[in-house]
Amino acid sequence: MQNKYFTDRNECPACRSCHVVELYKKPYDEPPVSDYLKSFYSSGGGVEFTYLKGAEYILCECDECRLVFQKQVPNEFLMKRLYEQWISPEKAFRQHQEIDGLDRYTYYAREIATVMAYLGKIPSQLRFLDFGMGWGKWALMAKAFGCESYGTELSEERIKYAQSTGIKTVAWEEISEYSFDFINTEQVFEHITAPLDTLIHLGGALKDNGIIKISVPTARNIRKRLKRMDWQAEKGTRNSLNPVAPLEHINCFGRKSLLKMATMAGLEEVSMPLKTQYQFMFNLRGVRSTAKNLLLPIYRNVLKRQNYVFFRKTENHKHVGPGSLPSK
Ligand SMILES: [Zn+2]
Repeated sequence: MQNKYFTDRNECPACRSCHVVELYKKPYDEPPVSDYLKSFYSSGGGVEFTYLKGAEYILCECDECRLVFQKQVPNEFLMKRLYEQWISPEKAFRQHQEIDGLDRYTYYAREIATVMAYLGKIPSQLRFLDFGMGWGKWALMAKAFGCESYGTELSEERIKYAQSTGIKTVAWEEISEYSFDFINTEQVFEHITAPLDTLIHLGGALKDNGIIKISVPTARNIRKRLKRMDWQAEKGTRNSLNPVAPLEHINCFGRKSLLKMATMAGLEEVSMPLKTQYQFMFNLRGVRSTAKNLLLPIYRNVLKRQNYVFFRKTENHKHVGPGSLPSK
């Protein structure tokens, strides 16, 4: 039975390969998936199972780029329901106000300073976009540096809030009218139905020397987790299925899938020089956090263990505007 609130993804959404293998399949409205959903959304508005009837949680893996993805994904209507009702905006806002502390803001400031140093311009000459900005914290920090700061977001509550803090918001259709020096995507690409199309769209809004960052969850032992399929494992533990959380984490990237997707979008990886990363790295809060900060660039550049990658246009794709890449 087909559920009208879902759409099927029959090819790999990162590289468009049709060579896709099914790994796991269970109905959404029966245990163990239903139990997982009940407990996961219990702190928000709760799951509306009527929308899930007949739909299945189907995990597939792409033979080409190794992306693990959910085949049946919520359509726009259900996505909105999920992000605006099941996760209550009021609770999410309280969380945003209460949980993020100094460490979070220091991290943003450091990341933004690093990108600005790499771009080699003063802040007032730069235009940044935070794609999927949430409540606009990152965009607000970029604005504080003095650059032109834009954000996009699906949730109306979040858009209104970000605008009230002075962030300029851009709709999806308007993105290609702009050209940005930097586009930030932090924990966004794992949630979107058409990641390759999205990346092509965003790449078209980059200046010729602009860069885009994709940061998504890293789950290095994902094969092991998928063998066990331990629905009880808590978020953050070794066997947790959070990297493939039903309905939300619909794409689980490895490095290979990120790079393949970027190539398809006319982009190539930028290696952020260690020196630039270290330039703003020190905080004097304690030996432990300093040691962690010291190791982070090594994890990223040398060991390539983090799904935290910067891309720029390849030579062939410079001087061409949006829409110049075929969508099929
Ligand atoms: Zn693929």
